[in-house]
Amino acid sequence: MDALSCALLPAFCTLCGSPLPQLSSVPICDSCWTEFPVQSGPVCARCGDTLAAPMQASGPNATALCRACRLAPPPFVRAVAFGLYQDRMKAAIHALKYDRLHPAAHGLGKMLAQAIAHLAAEAPAEMLVVPVPLHRSKHAERGFNQARSLAAAALEALRKTHPEWRLTLASSTLMRLRATESQAGLTPRQRRLNVRAAFSVSDPTAVAGKHILLIDDIFTTGATARSASQALARAGAASVFVATLARARLVHQSSRSAFFDGAEDNLTNSPAATAQPASIYSSQDQPSF
Ligand SMILES: [Zn+2]
Ligand SMILES: [Zn+2]
Repeated sequence: MDALSCALLPAFCTLCGSPLPQLSSVPICDSCWTEFPVQSGPVCARCGDTLAAPMQASGPNATALCRACRLAPPPFVRAVAFGLYQDRMKAAIHALKYDRLHPAAHGLGKMLAQAIAHLAAEAPAEMLVVPVPLHRSKHAERGFNQARSLAAAALEALRKTHPEWRLTLASSTLMRLRATESQAGLTPRQRRLNVRAAFSVSDPTAVAGKHILLIDDIFTTGATARSASQALARAGAASVFVATLARARLVHQSSRSAFFDGAEDNLTNSPAATAQPASIYSSQDQPSF
């Protein structure tokens, strides 16, 4: 970051508006970096969703699973996230994606690295790191894939904290076959199929037998993670783990239809379609891609 770039950046924190004490390559203040919302309480052992207290499993061998994971076990081993998709986290991801605040990827990538570190006990030491891709038209429009930026920054951090891990970034492994399109007017079954066939593996021989770490910025209903994991499993992946920077908190876990038929944020952005599943998010304005 040269002097000219610094001079062009605002002297106020992008997230809270407080004045920055010094020019920085990332216009986010120190206190904001420490105040990202984190998840608390019991979580689902598979997808990481917050569990309501009565849904906790008991007994020595019991595994606490959310309703969605009990009804339809996901094709990934486990999904972890750093924090919740709200408040400062939401603003920071927005700044990265839409305001192209690329330097923020470094700090956010470190947070993602902390989430990935939670997998240390169970994930293999050697994994192929696959960012969830954007469709090529979206990629052309945005100019970069935020999941790839976050993955690259996280790997850089993990090389220092976990030198024993051999993680290889493989950002062209997975392809998104469809641009974001409306799911309005589709039957629940059509929606599921629509989500299911959204990804393809470019070179199955590169994936066969490999352990995969799938990376995305946000985990919402999990439909994207499930769909991408399925494509990787079909290509012969030995296992798929999922790590995201943030996750949306689902507030109506008991609604099967909300989980299975709600349009995933990644896969739709039409007003008609986004209005429909809004009730399953803790916040009304769900992420749009
Ligand atoms: Zn701030
Ligand atoms: Zn779950």
